[in-house]
Amino acid sequence: MIYKHIFAQQALLATGWRQNVLIEWDENGVIRRVTADVSSPAVGETAGCLLPGMPNLHSHAFQRGFAGLTEYRHGRQDSFWSWRNLMYAFAARIAPEQMEAIATWLYAEMLAAGYTSVCEFHYVHHQPDGAPYADPALMCRSLLNAARNTGIGLTLLPVCYQNGGFGGQPAAALQQRFIQTTAQMLALWEMLLPLCQRQDARLGIAPHSLRAVDPGNLAALVAGVRSMDAAAPIHIHIAEQVKEVEDCVAWSGQRPVAWLLEHAPVDARWCLIHATHMNEHEYRMAAATGAVVGLCPTTEGNLGDGIFDYPLWRGHQGRWGIGSDSNSVVSAAEELQTLEYSQRFHLRQRNIGASDAFPEVATALYLDAVSGGAQASGRDVAGIAVGQRADMVELDCRHHAVAGLPVEKALSGHIFGSSRTSAIRRVWTGGTLRVDGARHLLRDQALAGFIDMRKQLFKAGA
Ligand code: ZN
Repeated sequence: MIYKHIFAQQALLATGWRQNVLIEWDENGVIRRVTADVSSPAVGETAGCLLPGMPNLHSHAFQRGFAGLTEYRHGRQDSFWSWRNLMYAFAARIAPEQMEAIATWLYAEMLAAGYTSVCEFHYVHHQPDGAPYADPALMCRSLLNAARNTGIGLTLLPVCYQNGGFGGQPAAALQQRFIQTTAQMLALWEMLLPLCQRQDARLGIAPHSLRAVDPGNLAALVAGVRSMDAAAPIHIHIAEQVKEVEDCVAWSGQRPVAWLLEHAPVDARWCLIHATHMNEHEYRMAAATGAVVGLCPTTEGNLGDGIFDYPLWRGHQGRWGIGSDSNSVVSAAEELQTLEYSQRFHLRQRNIGASDAFPEVATALYLDAVSGGAQASGRDVAGIAVGQRADMVELDCRHHAVAGLPVEKALSGHIFGSSRTSAIRRVWTGGTLRVDGARHLLRDQALAGFIDMRKQLFKAGA
């Protein structure tokens, strides 16, 4: 039954830091025993300071391919919407093998940055002119291949995108690669189910947003997926931009979160991505459903989205996790730091994320994000505990941000004091080593593929 073990001098469990912890897992990579205060076994792996792996609950992998390339003045006043036009132009040029090259490099980066699983919110389905590929799952296969080859845990969320705006507005030319009817989506979903099961990936569904899917199709999509898997995760972009909220009110008389909660069976299987703009009533009602909110602080900052009211959400015991979203930043530590700093800017206070149980902000935020991220993933990745996957991250005790500190300060050093370096040394998923010496084991090969992709795309493009 027990297959392998690791002995950690310090490990962060859901209850906090424990010393001399033996973690044992089975041949499927599932943790079977966690024992604290034991003496080091004579054989086997040892670690200094071990963290649970962080689930990344929101990623658009292809956007890594143009990270950093939209930071110039494009219109008279740039915004999310002008950025979106640049992003669409990039999305229009990507071929399936380029998608795989980007995702392979990105997932290797994610693992090295402490993310041990990812929810991939995937909407580039068709050929550039909008015609389906002969194999409708071709693009999804690129992502499945990238996850399998790098070893990152995957929750694949094929996106249903149908309209260009609220009230069934027609999609624009650059959105044609995304468009699927509800029947096409459900057929794709059925096709993907065995592919995901074969590699231990979880399949969920993502109605893109209320802008992109009308009420009838949203209901049919959710019911269709529920009939095949009652527990499938459902993710939706919900209230990222003020204009989106205004357009929703003009269309329905309600704000997007309020509309969704009244018209869809939102529960703990749902993840509300960028629930940035909610009123007090929406914060209370959304938290009561048990749904997770997906916070993507570095992307929300990059796109000028606005600031989520973290204290209000936590005041209602709301669940949350972090996502790298546009992937201009790929670092679990930096997402948590940016989340905390966004609150400090706004409230002119410090240590907003600390809790009664965990006065260290880093520890409190980290454990919350692991727990909420696992819920949103629909996978057993909720930390170092029996029944969860052996997804683990080791801090490098010799890194300047961590060296010489007591363990509860080491995580703070990693998140708040590492100055764009990383104190991560080794990473395991399902008990298998993926990152050693701060480098993914396939780093060089993945990077070469990524650079080739960039050369091809930027030669072919504008
Ligand atoms: Zn997104």
